Amino acid sequence: MDAPAADAETLAGLPVARGVDALRAVVGDWRAAGQSVALVPTMGALHAGHLALVERALALAERVVVSLFVNPAQFAPGEDFERYPRDEAADAARLAALGVDLMFAPTIEEMYGDGFATTVSVKDITEGLCGAARPGHFDGVATVVTKLLLQCRPDFAVFGEKDYQQLLTIRRLVKDLDVPVAVESVPTVREADGLALSSRNAYLTDEQRPVAARLNRVLADMAARLERGAAPSDVAADASAALIAAGIDRVEYLEVRDAATLAPIETLSRPARVLAAVRIGKVRLIDNMPVGVVVAHGKRT
Ligand code: AMP
Repeated sequence: MDAPAADAETLAGLPVARGVDALRAVVGDWRAAGQSVALVPTMGALHAGHLALVERALALAERVVVSLFVNPAQFAPGEDFERYPRDEAADAARLAALGVDLMFAPTIEEMYGDGFATTVSVKDITEGLCGAARPGHFDGVATVVTKLLLQCRPDFAVFGEKDYQQLLTIRRLVKDLDVPVAVESVPTVREADGLALSSRNAYLTDEQRPVAARLNRVLADMAARLERGAAPSDVAADASAALIAAGIDRVEYLEVRDAATLAPIETLSRPARVLAAVRIGKVRLIDNMPVGVVVAHGKRT
């Protein structure tokens, strides 16, 4: 790694840019040297799921930028924006250890300056599922990701399948707006008991933690039953009941959807995805899993 300029900020030895000009100056130098760039957008509080995205980025490009920005625009009033976990120093240390080149950690003022008035809004794919439960959420995501892509102009941007509807939303906006970036995705990283890693798992109490792990097991059972030919509506109804029986307080949604379009499906003729959002106490958890189509002789797609 090149030595940072004398006045550049570093955290745990990692160069940090707080503003778009500083980010562009660094990326511009890399570009001038003919180097490729990958961006990993995050809200910080990094865990092994985020780090899997970073590893992918490091394999894809010569330079890697990780952005840390808890984006107020994707939280509805009453959600957890204020209490969302933040630990920039620990995040920087983990990124430095992996060999990341730059952390982009802009201020809210830098991202949403005086008079900010533009929203990127993606139709269809954002309707239903988390879009129904969190009004305005995907507008916030689409707007901030568009900004980050324009600010950094990476060759690659890496996202997790953990937020599957978000991933498809970003693929859609990149295609529709002709953003010159390759969107890469990484499968969900899980705890040993199947719970998808999430910064929000920190909200779970010791009693809630084993209940949370049931979500993934129920989704895995759903996927297996669907692959054996069970009807999506039956499978979803049984799974909802199983979640409540397991101690989950509320099932916000639990659906079998087309994996490419998220359209509801009645029969399994194309690759599908089971997706769910649940509440345990005040904690909201999401998860999803792929469902293959059995084409012949038990072979999965
Ligand atoms: P967040 O910080 O929650 O906004 O997430 C930043 C990125 O990390 C998104 O692309 C997420 O989908 C991804 N991500 C979060 N949790 C996981 C996980 N357990 N496995 C893989 N990717 C994840």
